[in-house]
Amino acid sequence: MSQAPLILTDLLGDKEIPTPNHVPNTIMELKKSPPAEGYNIRCPRLGHQIEFSYCRFENRGLPCFKVLDCWYTHFQVADFLKEELSSEEWDKTFNRPPMPKLTSLVELIEQAKKV
Ligand code: SF4
Repeated sequence: MSQAPLILTDLLGDKEIPTPNHVPNTIMELKKSPPAEGYNIRCPRLGHQIEFSYCRFENRGLPCFKVLDCWYTHFQVADFLKEELSSEEWDKTFNRPPMPKLTSLVELIEQAKKV
């Protein structure tokens, strides 16, 4: 005789499913504006901690093309940038063909020299 699989709601009943403190339960809980300076996330491109102010302008004054992926769990980044950017800037940032890896690497080296 087989048993029905145990699911989380069997254990918790009507209680809310616990989540880590830094992960909001819904999009409504996310702040509309970026976190204050000093709030860092790990940059998958650079391999170290970074603030939103860097991501916002790292692409020659435009946001990094990965900014929506990197920041969407921290605040309402898409809505924020839709208000900040013109439609032309939005397209330039998010709707351009991907850069070859070598070009991307050269650009990162150039940016690192400026810091
Ligand atoms: S948005 Fe770009 S610069 Fe910022 S953390 Fe992500 S990959 Fe790095």
